[in-house]
Amino acid sequence: MRLTSFDTGHHESWGTVDGEHIFDLGALAGHRLLAEVLADTTLEALVSRKSEADVYERAHVQLLPPVTDRSKILCVGLNYADHIAEMKRATPTHPVVFTRFADSFVGDGAALIAPRNSTSFDYEGEFCIVIGKTARHVAPNEALRHIFGYTIMNDGSVRDYQRHTHQFAPGKNFPRSGAIGPGIVTTDEFGPVADQRIHTRVNGVVVQESSLNQLVFDVAHLIAYCSEWTVLRPGDVIATGTPGGVGDGRDPALWLFPGDVVEISVDGIGTLQNSVAEEE
Ligand code: MG
Repeated sequence: MRLTSFDTGHHESWGTVDGEHIFDLGALAGHRLLAEVLADTTLEALVSRKSEADVYERAHVQLLPPVTDRSKILCVGLNYADHIAEMKRATPTHPVVFTRFADSFVGDGAALIAPRNSTSFDYEGEFCIVIGKTARHVAPNEALRHIFGYTIMNDGSVRDYQRHTHQFAPGKNFPRSGAIGPGIVTTDEFGPVADQRIHTRVNGVVVQESSLNQLVFDVAHLIAYCSEWTVLRPGDVIATGTPGGVGDGRDPALWLFPGDVVEISVDGIGTLQNSVAEEE
C-alpha cells in the first residue's frame, strides 16, 4: 500500500495512492492525522471504505511531506562508507544522529529554497524509515516490526552553516531546504531493504548511486539505537544517511542554485523530485 499527504488548494488531507489517483481517507477519518492512524486498525477499516472516498488526480494536488508537525524527524549522518570517505571523517562507533524541523521540508514537486545567505546548498538523497508502532528500548531483532513503511528524503544541507560548529542543526534546518516524499510504501509492498537501490540526479545527471545494503548501521540497528534514548512514535521518521557523491565531496563542488532540479529515486518507492527556487 502507498500513502501520501496532499493539499487540494481547499484542504490538506492524506490518502492512499493508486497509480495517478489519490483516495482521500483523511476526510473519511474526520481528518485524523496520518500519523494517528498508522498505529491502529483504523487504517485497515478506512482502506476497506476506499470506494466512498473523494478521489483526486495526483497532478491536480500539491503533495506534502507524508509526516506531520508532530513527527520527530531523526537524520543519520555518515552511514555509507563512500560518503564517510568523501567527507574525510572516521567511521563512527555509534550512529551519528541529528534532528530536523518539520518546516525545513517540502513535499514532492514543490520548490526547495536556495538560501540567500549561502552559496553552499547541497543535496543528500536518503532512504527513510517511517515508524508504525511505538518503540522504546527495542532490541535489533525486534526492531523491524516497529516499521510502518519507507519513504525518501532530500536532506538538503547548507554546508557553511553546517560547519560553523560541530553541531549540524543550523545547516540542516533552513526553511524549505529539504524534501520528503512522494509517499510512504508499506513494508510488505517494499520487501527486503538490502535488495533495493538509491539514485540521485541533478539536472538529469546521476550524482549518487548505491545499494541499500551498504548502510554502516542497518535499519534494525538504527531503530534500536534511537529507541535507547527517545520514544519512537507512529509517524516518526529516521533518515538512514546519504551515499557518496554529494556536491560538497566533489572537485569542483557541485552546489545547487535556482533553476536546478534534484530527483531522488529508490526502487520500490518512486522518485522525489524538486526544483530549486530563489529565496524571496
Ligand atoms: Mg544526511
